[in-house]
Amino acid sequence: MDHKLRVIYTCFPGGKHKVLTFSYDDGRQEDRRLVEIFNRYGMKGTFNINGLLTQDERIPKEEWASLYAGHEVACHTAKHPTIARCPDEQILQQVLEDRRALERVLHYPVRGLAYPNGSVNRHIADMLPFAGIRYGRTVRSTQSFAMPDNYMMWDPTAHHNNPELMQLGGQFLGLYKTQYLYMMYVWGHSYEFTARDNWNVIENFCKMMSGHDDIWYATNIEICDYMDAASRLQVSASGDFAYNPSATDVWLEVDKQMICCKSNSITDL
Ligand SMILES: [Zn+2]
Repeated sequence: MDHKLRVIYTCFPGGKHKVLTFSYDDGRQEDRRLVEIFNRYGMKGTFNINGLLTQDERIPKEEWASLYAGHEVACHTAKHPTIARCPDEQILQQVLEDRRALERVLHYPVRGLAYPNGSVNRHIADMLPFAGIRYGRTVRSTQSFAMPDNYMMWDPTAHHNNPELMQLGGQFLGLYKTQYLYMMYVWGHSYEFTARDNWNVIENFCKMMSGHDDIWYATNIEICDYMDAASRLQVSASGDFAYNPSATDVWLEVDKQMICCKSNSITDL
């Protein structure tokens, strides 16, 4: 009987160890141009929409499904209040009414959230999973590539106006140590590119980051759902087989060898 202790690591889909994701708020008209850039360079993003705000400069709801196809639409509350100042009942209604408005049109469960005005505290982060929210994005940039510890307090790497964006991107491209999972997370508002006349910032960034085989391009919720599936993997005590009860394939690195654990199957490692 071989009792060799194996080293087993969780990998991203395809055995990758880096993920790039974006998050853009408010659903203004400039999202059209941003989505076009993302699609051209194979980027995946999350777009955070206020379901009950319908002023002229917002993307009309009739357009949500087609414009954001292939990306994620997530909550940004129904009317964008600074929720840390609101009573709990208000917070829950702001989130649930936003979900209802978005889901009525998109016909998939909307489980992501970007906190409006970055407004969050521990109490809110603890409460919103009861309204079906799986993650909440803050506005605290970390300038680092670590995976989040708490998805309800998901800090991005950088705002796109960070003067070191390209430098951070280059640093991320250069990461090669496969003992870690790395995430680069860029956020902002598409209308800022027009206001500052700097669409070249996102254009150049996407161009530099596009087409790299070791990067998984994913929306926010795809990252959560994949990591949830990975955490549900049942690995034998000897590390010689695993049962994957999820509907998602999960990738492992076993003694430096990539193995795909197919959904709803037992895989020999
Ligand atoms: Zn906003």
